[in-house]
Amino acid sequence: MRIAVFPGSFDPITVGHQDIIERASTLFDKMIVGLGTNASKQHMFTLEQRLSWIEKTFEANPKISVAAYSGLTIDFCKKNNANYLVRGLRSFTDFEYESAIAQMNQKMAPVIETIFMLTKPEYDAIASTIVRDIIRNGGEVKQFLARGVSLGG
Ligand code: ADP
Repeated sequence: MRIAVFPGSFDPITVGHQDIIERASTLFDKMIVGLGTNASKQHMFTLEQRLSWIEKTFEANPKISVAAYSGLTIDFCKKNNANYLVRGLRSFTDFEYESAIAQMNQKMAPVIETIFMLTKPEYDAIASTIVRDIIRNGGEVKQFLARGVSLGG
């Protein structure tokens, strides 16, 4: 069985993430969205909130599940018998950052293959960081968010 992990902080999950997860899920038997928890990172939304939005987004797709983890992503992959780690690429900056991580992961865990998927041009500029800024300043972000996210009143 081909199992893949798509790790991230998803604060919040965007249409860009949603698109990569759905496209990647067609290549694998099982796709686990790994919500990485990093104590030193300040999040806008709680872990429970982010988990439930991801669950809701993919509720119709039995191949896709979500789980939170702490520690190294490669350890989370091993725990879930996942031999594939999927990352999305938007820009050259993403590439530089992601290739360093992938090469170090490759050294630490040679059985885990990192697979990169290019974003669609229309999602190129969408980043959780910018979405959070817009929310903080009272802007409308619905068009940038995954379908399961509801910000409520
Ligand atoms: P991290 O905290 O690890 O950067 P993110 O939640 O920001 O986590 O991103 C998780 C993954 O989604 C990364 O591989 C990132 O490159 C990818 N990603 C983020 N935004 C987009 C987008 N608009 N299109 C495609 N991939 C994206």
